[in-house]
Amino acid sequence: MKAVVVNSESTGVEIVEKELRPLESGEALVEVEYCGVCHSDLHIVHGIFGKVPGRTLGHEGIGIVKEIAPDVKNLKVGDRVSIAWFFEGCGACEYCNTGRETLCRTVKNAGYSVDGGMAEQCIVTADYAVKVPENLDPAQASSITCAGVTTYKAIKEAQLKPGQWIALFGAGGLGNLAVQYAKKVFNAHVVAIDINNDKLELAKKVGADIVINGLEVEDVAGLIQEKTGGTHSAVVTAVSKVAFNQAVNSVRAGGRVVAVGLPSEMMDLSIVKTVLDGIQVVGSLVGTRKDLEEAFQFGAEGLVVPVVQTRPVEDAPAVFDEMAAGTIQGRMVLDFTH
Ligand SMILES: [Zn+2]
Ligand SMILES: [Zn+2]
Repeated sequence: MKAVVVNSESTGVEIVEKELRPLESGEALVEVEYCGVCHSDLHIVHGIFGKVPGRTLGHEGIGIVKEIAPDVKNLKVGDRVSIAWFFEGCGACEYCNTGRETLCRTVKNAGYSVDGGMAEQCIVTADYAVKVPENLDPAQASSITCAGVTTYKAIKEAQLKPGQWIALFGAGGLGNLAVQYAKKVFNAHVVAIDINNDKLELAKKVGADIVINGLEVEDVAGLIQEKTGGTHSAVVTAVSKVAFNQAVNSVRAGGRVVAVGLPSEMMDLSIVKTVLDGIQVVGSLVGTRKDLEEAFQFGAEGLVVPVVQTRPVEDAPAVFDEMAAGTIQGRMVLDFTH
């Protein structure tokens, strides 16, 4: 079968022929339909989290179960399931047992520590493969598997309530979905901040109440304070230290800042402001199986519609080059159905 893997020098991707091993206890074989290409795939290719030459990439996989091990009870042949970054937890530690399974210290991650969904077939741990609702488009589902659930979970972590204000820093692939979840699912008022007017246009189209271009406004946080009285929370998907610092200054007293983007820098956090204004800063990483099930359901109900563009598998090296060059708009999804 065809698989998109990290090349031997960890400088890019290549398409190779691979054979899968036989299924073991608790596993299922999935015939992949679509797999999205995520910015973190680029980090993996370049060995930022540690080099993994030969690894099959992909943590935004969607496919149909083709075969199950004899002891598998939760899936049947023909089910449509996801292959997500949270590939498997230990199931026994304090995190796995308290609804925080993505923090499991021995977690397996698809397309990084185990082979992922960027291949014609993929072996999954059946208990951890989340079912995709029937009326959700599979290419759109691939985008919810990572970008969607990540933003949905982050907004949950923001403890956002209906009618409150939230500032969303970054209106790209993740940010656009964040606007939709915040607006349509949580009934919040949304400020979207980005440095790209096309992305802000799109944010406005999907429901942002206020959009701000960070390059055109001198004091972004000041403007947000003036227009909203300070937002109740902020989610930062932008890969920029500047955005993190603006977020802290955009929330009102008691506000919550949720960190999602991964710039390799430090954020400035005024101790005085943190203490006197009771600011909370928390990190949020993808989502649990339950979060993904919920995120899928809102997609199936048409409340959240990911903007995706499909490309043939053969284009994978080109898609990674375009991503490295920053020329991609929306989410690129590799099509394995042809
Ligand atoms: Zn991702
Ligand atoms: Zn665990």
